[in-house]
Amino acid sequence: MTVITCPECGHRVSDQAAACPQCARPMRQAPTVIVDPYREPVQTIQRTSKKYKGFMLAGVLIFFVGCGMFVENVSTAGARPDPSNIVIAAAGIILFAWARVAAWWNHG
Ligand SMILES: [Zn+2]
Repeated sequence: MTVITCPECGHRVSDQAAACPQCARPMRQAPTVIVDPYREPVQTIQRTSKKYKGFMLAGVLIFFVGCGMFVENVSTAGARPDPSNIVIAAAGIILFAWARVAAWWNHG
């Protein structure tokens, strides 16, 4: 146990004390502990928004890759294209639509 000086009134206080007995200043709570109530939600919104933007971008990319593969497949296979290419393109659209709806749902 050590004795520290109260930064508020200069009274010598035990570091085990919850508050200064002279001026009642809280000793265990440093002012830096106080969290800015506005900072945390803003960061969360920006992070969430970026996440959905990433999903939307991935959805668009998957859609174009699927379309490209489909066109490539039609030109080489003729009348019997591989349906899996359509599935990839559709999955891209679904991913994009989901990210769009999820972003709207979370942010209004
Ligand atoms: Zn004090």
